[in-house]
Amino acid sequence: MPLRLYNTLTRQLEEFKPLGGNTVRMYGCGPTVYDYAHIGNYRTFLFQDVLRRYLKYSGYELRHVVNVTDVDDNTIRNSQAAGIALRNYTDKYIDAFQVDRELLSLEQPEFLVRATDHIPEMVKLIQTLVDRGYAYASEGSVYYKVAAFPPYGQLSHTDFSGALAGARVDSDKYDKENARDFVLWKAAKDGEPFWEAPFGRGRPGWHIECSAMSMKYLGETFDIHSGGSDLIFPHHENEIAQSEAATGKLFVKVWMHSEHLIVNGEKMSKSLGNFYTLRDLIHKGFKPSAIRYLLTSVPHRKPLNFTFDGLHQAQQSIDRLRNFKFRLMKEKFPEGETPALQNIAREAAQKFAEALDDNLNTAGALGAIFDMVRDGNTAMDHGDFHAGDGAMFLDTLQRFDRIFAVLGDDDHAKLVKHGFIKQQESGADANAAAGSDAGRSLSDQEIEKLIAERAAARRAGNYARSDEIRANLLKAGVILEDTKAGVRWKRK
Ligand code: AMP
Ligand code: ZN
Repeated sequence: MPLRLYNTLTRQLEEFKPLGGNTVRMYGCGPTVYDYAHIGNYRTFLFQDVLRRYLKYSGYELRHVVNVTDVDDNTIRNSQAAGIALRNYTDKYIDAFQVDRELLSLEQPEFLVRATDHIPEMVKLIQTLVDRGYAYASEGSVYYKVAAFPPYGQLSHTDFSGALAGARVDSDKYDKENARDFVLWKAAKDGEPFWEAPFGRGRPGWHIECSAMSMKYLGETFDIHSGGSDLIFPHHENEIAQSEAATGKLFVKVWMHSEHLIVNGEKMSKSLGNFYTLRDLIHKGFKPSAIRYLLTSVPHRKPLNFTFDGLHQAQQSIDRLRNFKFRLMKEKFPEGETPALQNIAREAAQKFAEALDDNLNTAGALGAIFDMVRDGNTAMDHGDFHAGDGAMFLDTLQRFDRIFAVLGDDDHAKLVKHGFIKQQESGADANAAAGSDAGRSLSDQEIEKLIAERAAARRAGNYARSDEIRANLLKAGVILEDTKAGVRWKRK
């Protein structure tokens, strides 16, 4: 079956084919960088990452743009409160966004662009809308004349006819009841950053930013545009109105939206104060890979309820997968092959792809992999698994990880790299340090070294020493498990 994606515009599952050749041109609305993004935002960014990865998996090339909104009411307000120039203020949160992306294994898009680097493109687009009769100036600002664009409402499936004449709305975010002529260019206010434009000093509205940047990098018509479902109205509705009025062409073929991350029945959001940033959860001891897993495990069109229990379960699921991979790589199996077993692994890969072909059904894809892991483990426990079977299982696991990206076991290294965990001075006595109350963090190499030392102590019959090493490792947060395949260790 080919890849099918649910299109908010047509409200249908549609077979996906890029408009031009083998390259998919897509745009994802990124964060507004006035603070750290919360994990609700990352649910949407992770959905976009799964989409990106699966398009590549399906053999397509990507031309993917992610924007950051670095000028709006919030960024201006917060930078002024902090007494820092807007650009410097937003730099900090763009850097944090990049660190979070790396921690969560989000692939880099081909273009990560910021709004304030594209003001001339926005001014030009606004001018085109004025020239074509879709926009008008009033008191130094410029507004989009919604009544001039009859299809308005097509994305949110709302009938606005008759309701819109005359009144204007100056804020970027508003609900359907308050739909009015919306602002494209806001007249400069005292003390706020501004840019020069033919219609006067000011700054762009939020919606025009994404129309201008997407069309600059992807052309007037492109394949996929996405964001969280709260962006359907007004943001994406307005992007369509702006872009299609300016070009007279279809703006985007497929619109994709993810449902919200929910906490106690409410959308996780800054304004409700019910949010966690990635940093908050890392400081509570959760691993980025577990957060990635949790946020991708529910298909994007279903709301996802955030709980700590869910995060613990995500960690356990990852452990199960990593343990299986460890067995595949380290355990000694009898020579030979079991074709029926290899079929299980082959079919799991097929079911995995079939689920993702169905509008990125991540839950179904995970189900296929866990069925395979269960069957594989059982065969290993019963002595039915043979040396020749491993490659097929590993291949399916690798396919899984091209999308889910949680098997790398690199949380610790990334947390050290970004300063969340302090790594000890090299050359210190790792065993003593591990056992110290300071409980400093050990590098992977040090742990491996101590495990080798423990094995040597055991071979020499020095069980006191081997127990001491085990206890010290535990104190440093490292759990050892003696398995048939050798010693498996993991961090708590
Ligand atoms: P913002 O920084 O507010 O522009 O939001 C960035 C992205 O996160 C947008 O695509 C939003 O739709 C999305 N978003 C915001 N809150 C949530 C949430 N609770 N769950 C999922 N996505 C969200
Ligand atoms: Zn946008």
